[in-house]
Order: sequence, then C-alpha cells, then structure tokens
Amino acid sequence: MLHTVSAFDRIGEENAFAVLARATALAAKGKDVINLGIGQPDFRTPDHIVEAAIKALRDGHHGYTPATGLLATREAVVRRTLAMTGVEVSPENVMILPGGKPTMYGAIVMFGEPGAEILYPDPGFPIYRSMIEFTGATPVPVPIREENGFAFSADEVLALITPRTRLLILNSPANPTGGVTPKAEIDKLVAGLAAHPDVAILSDEIYDVMTYDGETHQSLLAYPEIRDRLIVLNGWSKTWAMTGWRMGWSIWPDGLYDKIRKLAVNCWSCVNAPAQYGGIAAIDGPQDEVEKMMRAFDRRRGIVVEGLNSLPGVSCIRPKGAFYAFPNVSQTGWKAKKLANALLDDKGVALIGGPDFGILGEGYLRLSYANSEENILRAIERMDAFLRDTG
Ligand code: PLP
Repeated sequence: MLHTVSAFDRIGEENAFAVLARATALAAKGKDVINLGIGQPDFRTPDHIVEAAIKALRDGHHGYTPATGLLATREAVVRRTLAMTGVEVSPENVMILPGGKPTMYGAIVMFGEPGAEILYPDPGFPIYRSMIEFTGATPVPVPIREENGFAFSADEVLALITPRTRLLILNSPANPTGGVTPKAEIDKLVAGLAAHPDVAILSDEIYDVMTYDGETHQSLLAYPEIRDRLIVLNGWSKTWAMTGWRMGWSIWPDGLYDKIRKLAVNCWSCVNAPAQYGGIAAIDGPQDEVEKMMRAFDRRRGIVVEGLNSLPGVSCIRPKGAFYAFPNVSQTGWKAKKLANALLDDKGVALIGGPDFGILGEGYLRLSYANSEENILRAIERMDAFLRDTG
C-alpha cells in the first residue's frame, strides 16, 4: 500500500464543490435543480476583459511572467487599492496568484506548525481550518455570532490570543454569513493588537466591493501600525465574475514578500499571462457591469431575506455584504445538514448546511443569491412546501 504523509489525512474540503457535483449529477438525470450552493457570480466576465485576454494571446503573450506577476498587473492592483482604501502600496509588495486561495495557503503554511495556534472565523470559509490542520497547527475558532450581525468582536478575538498565536485570519465582508465588521470594531481590534506584536494578520477582503445599505468596507490596510505584519487577500474572482480565470492578488509586508515569491517559483511559476492582461482591463476598464451586478445582488438580497423570513421556523437577518444569506433554521426541527441534503434530494434546491463552515454553523443554512430572482423565488416556494409537509 502506498504510504502518504499524515498531513494529507487532515486536509478538509469545501463542501460547496461536492454539492455542486451532486446538483449537476441530479440535473443530468433530468431533475430540475436550482443551485443556491456555489459561491460564484452568475454573470459573465465583462466583454472588455475577455477581449483584453484574447488580444494578449494574439499579441504573443504566451510565456512565463515574473513569479510575482507582471509589473503592469501589479501596478493596476496598486491603483485599485488606492481607489478602494486610500492607501498607496508599492508594486513590490503586490503578488499576483492563481486565485484567492493560494494566498490563504501561502500565509497559513508560513505560520502554521505543530504547537502554533491560528485564529480563524467560525462560521467561516472552510479552507482556513482545513489548511491550518494540514500544517499541524492548532485551529482556534473565533466565534462569529448572529446577535452581533455576524461581525467579529474585537474583545473576543483579543481574548483568544495566547503566546502561541502566530496568525489571525479575518474576513469581512464574510463568507458564509454576509457579515460586515464595522470600522469601530476594527479600530478596537487593531488597538488591542499593539500588545501582540508577534501575531501576523491575514485579512481576506475578497468581497470588498460587495456591501449594501450604505455600509462600507474597512480595509485593514488603513492601519499603518500593523502593516509590517499584515497580509491582505483579494482577487478578481468575485468582483468581475472571473472565478474560472484563477486570478488573485495579495499585499505582503516586506519581510514576507520574498517568501511568497519563492513559494510561487516552487509551486505554480506564475499566473497565466493572458489572464493577467484581462486582470488589468478589469481594474482599469469601465465598472458599469460590476455596478449592474451589485444592483442585481441587492435586489435579490431583499427577495431572499423576505422569502426566508416567511418560512416556518426560519429567520434571517439582512446580510450587509457578499452574496450570501445565512438563515437560522434551528426552529424547524431539522439538523442543518440533514435539511440541506433533503432539500436537494426532495426538492432540487441546492444549498449548503451551516456546519460545513464550522462548529457554530449548526442551526444555519447558507444560500448564495448569485442566481436569478425567478429561481430564488422558486427555491423559496419549494422550501416552504417542504417545511410545511414535513413540519
Ligand atoms: N476567500 C473567501 C472568503 C471566499 O469566499 C473565496 C471563494 O469562495 C475565496 C477566498 C477564494 O477565491 P478564489 O476562487 O479566487 O480562490
């Protein structure tokens, strides 16, 4: 029998992909499936981005680029960062990677080892915990609570820091809850982190543009006092509907930049060149498609929240960011994962059980409203029929 190292037995999953596979298999058998499971915009990448990548291919950009990414792409990220946060970063701190996930991987393997503790949001993006366990470090969940609007609490984060804490992972706007942490809470957290200068911070800001109701995203980049230990994760996947392009960026402090560059050299060499030209067009080109997408998400958010709150035993707070709703289903009499499975099998509604995002996800479902208004309404009707029949 082949002997693989035990770290691989500790790698977890992102169940959204398994649900997508099951939903696709059911649809292939003829079932009418509505997919509210996967976290990707249901929009096409805007045409001018596609054209820029095609032009790059035609112009002969077929070779390797620098491992850190093309300078022109990094400079575009500098412009985008300045526009979004008011902070001017150097292209020498910007890394272009194949998606958002490689930053997560890089940061976690840089700080994770047996004996180290890494704090991560629970419920939160499942890959954080999976990668922490892969390194042998101890995952320490930071509770993300409904009564707190699914924002993180500075006091709770700070109380969990010990002398063994190496890395703190933050995510706002958040997957799976749609929670946005207010600036005052981030101010408080950063002030408290002054007492813990050895703790690095990974701030996952991939949904930065996706806020509603006048809420604004507060980037951790705005705090110069933590810049020497801050990694900011971002990317093209969600904002420009480019999940399949595999394009992400991150901003690294001087002391860590060469380490992530070397990881790139060892693992993926560089991001594919035409996609990087598409990435420049995404940042510098017209943003009207992004604005259109955000208006659509906002309308759907209203529909999904109203619909969910009309279901027996279900309550849902109005998410302030991203494109997810995280309804509380604890009063339905169902365990969340069983309910998610039954809704897919019986009603063809694909969504994700809260426990796939952490221990505190029990009692919740995650619905991605990256689907048409019509499909969202049909899904709510089916959920209503299911809960009434089985309740
Ligand atoms: N971070 C969060 C919070 C996400 O929800 C996702 C994708 O779902 C990612 C990172 C990964 O993005 P990418 O597809 O660019 O790797």
